[in-house]
Amino acid sequence: MRLLVVEDEPDLLVLMGRALERGGFVVDIASDLAQAAEFLAVAHYDLLILDLNLPDGDGLSLLRQLRARGSQLPVLVLTARDAVEDRVTGLDTGADDYLVKPFHIPELIARIRALLRRPDAALGITLSLGNLVLDTTSRQVSVNAAAVAMSVREVALLELLMRRQGAVVPRDLLEQGLYSFEAELGSNAMEVLVHRVRRKLTDAAATTCIHTVRGVGYLLAEVA
Ligand code: CA
Repeated sequence: MRLLVVEDEPDLLVLMGRALERGGFVVDIASDLAQAAEFLAVAHYDLLILDLNLPDGDGLSLLRQLRARGSQLPVLVLTARDAVEDRVTGLDTGADDYLVKPFHIPELIARIRALLRRPDAALGITLSLGNLVLDTTSRQVSVNAAAVAMSVREVALLELLMRRQGAVVPRDLLEQGLYSFEAELGSNAMEVLVHRVRRKLTDAAATTCIHTVRGVGYLLAEVA
């Protein structure tokens, strides 16, 4: 799951960025509206975290533009304390939820997960296929109820494939979901990652496997 955070307070950004990455999210950070618009034009995001008071304008203007062109992107608005009007306007403009500053990071993460669980956004909390189960909240992968140790990015890959199980997931969609703009992506990074996950699944005797569809992407399916 890839998130865009639009926020201009450096301390808060560092805190949020770290916590979100630990939570298994891929995070891009934009510090003003112009940069946010650039990112939104080229990357696919699963959720937008939007501060309202930004150096080059009001975050609501960005939200208005998104909704005007029919975007269903879940949006969590960050507002200053006591700015009740901001909240009302934010929800009227099409925000899905809001959080009042200062907030606790665990609450932010909980709100994000709740938004990603809503219909039209993402599906349930626990994903499964065959004897493979992924708890998207605890980020725990298990096969036949036995935990399989995986890195944050390995779990993220598996989540993307499990959410689209039985369908070929295009390689560029996976790359977008797994690596932020800041990440330095080697030319065979995806192959190496898939290889590692495949081996862990095999070692754990999973009844699912990742097929390579040459020139297109990857497919997670049950072993026949
Ligand atoms: Ca601000």
